[in-house]
Amino acid sequence: MTTKNNDSTWTKSTCAYCGVGCGIEAKVNANGTLEVRGDKDHPANYGKLCSKGLKLGETVTPNGRMLSPSVHGEDCAWDDALSHVANTFKNTIAEHGPDAVAFYVSGQLLTEDYYVVNKLMKGFIGTANIDTNSRLCMASSVVGHKRAFGEDCVPGNYEDLELANLVVLTGSNLAWCHPVLYQRLKAAKARRGTKIVVIDPRQTATCEIADLHLPLFPGSDIALFNGLLAYLAKRGQINQGYIDNNTIGFGSALDTAGRFANINTVALATGLKVGDIETFYQWFRATPKTVTVYSQGVNQSTSGSDKVNSILNCHLATGRVGLPGSTPFSVTGQPNAMGGREVGGLANTLAAHMEFGNKEQAELLSHFWQTENLASQPGLKAMDMFNAMESGKIKALWVMATNPAVSLPESQRINTILANCPYVVVSDCVESNDTLKYAHVRLPAQAGAKNPAP
Ligand code: SF4
Repeated sequence: MTTKNNDSTWTKSTCAYCGVGCGIEAKVNANGTLEVRGDKDHPANYGKLCSKGLKLGETVTPNGRMLSPSVHGEDCAWDDALSHVANTFKNTIAEHGPDAVAFYVSGQLLTEDYYVVNKLMKGFIGTANIDTNSRLCMASSVVGHKRAFGEDCVPGNYEDLELANLVVLTGSNLAWCHPVLYQRLKAAKARRGTKIVVIDPRQTATCEIADLHLPLFPGSDIALFNGLLAYLAKRGQINQGYIDNNTIGFGSALDTAGRFANINTVALATGLKVGDIETFYQWFRATPKTVTVYSQGVNQSTSGSDKVNSILNCHLATGRVGLPGSTPFSVTGQPNAMGGREVGGLANTLAAHMEFGNKEQAELLSHFWQTENLASQPGLKAMDMFNAMESGKIKALWVMATNPAVSLPESQRINTILANCPYVVVSDCVESNDTLKYAHVRLPAQAGAKNPAP
């Protein structure tokens, strides 16, 4: 959809820098530069942009862009490059089976692209060897949501931050990582005195709006939130009706949390002052309209899923889920980590939150996609995928809109694996990055897109 503005046409799109997903409008000036402004009608930002979004226009130049496909370093026509990719994948599959190929994709993809590439791999190539860099930042939240709610759904939205009386930010430097959302929260605080607790080992920029900063030991979140659950239960501040009607397993959650029933034990485990812990617990207890926002500081951890569930348990126990201004709220780092989860961008899901191992769902999807070749079991997750390349099991990889040579753990090993992989295809908008140097085929990609018509 486009809006007319005098003699120019503004095109609506989305800022692709962070998970806030601000709406933008862009137009080409007479001198060829791109002008970008916030979309006043967009519910994420109502016309506001942070400095990154405001500078988007300056990034749209041919400088440093990949402008032509190439095979083995030689520029070529699209048809030739695509035939090369198709034939190599086809031959590899014919010789070694579908599990010998893989796609490594990204939370930077549009939902529609995510859907199509997932459909191609799981529906027609017949393997689920497609995983995403969102695995690194969000998989623990996916697991936490599934354990708590039965599916990977996020029960909050941005307005909840403006309706809450208490906002708890844990593992989230909102000021830097979700700037426009931070400004919305800051404005709400100025308007209605929202109390804000920041739980972070570091004194971040977000602490500027904190009424209470809890600089806990890294990794001690579970002790803090299990302590909160035990505190609420001890004082009869749980919502027994909600628990009885909507949950199972409360007793065992409480038993586990019981280890931190004494605030001194929580203080020892977290390094926090007893008085500060008591203040946090007391505020949470007394404030039905509480939103707990959590992000990568919680997720990116060897115990990330348990951390997520320790947070969700406190909200489930008080019935504060999915109510206006009263809910847990996982915010993603990348622009479209959630879109990928919706359409099955992870190796262990099908599409639209359907699961492997469910005959009915497999039949439904096979019928909808008109395929007889649907993958029947989960594929390899990000690190397992690269391990399989190292052992020679995966022989052809297509990387889309991500830079695993830098962003995966053990980057030296990952670089060696990419260098030794028999066939690497990379789709990206830039001319050079650390992964592109291993590509046998390079495919230029768009950096942004017009919003689809509503
Ligand atoms: S807050 Fe995020 S989505 Fe919004 S303009 Fe800034 S970088 Fe872009």
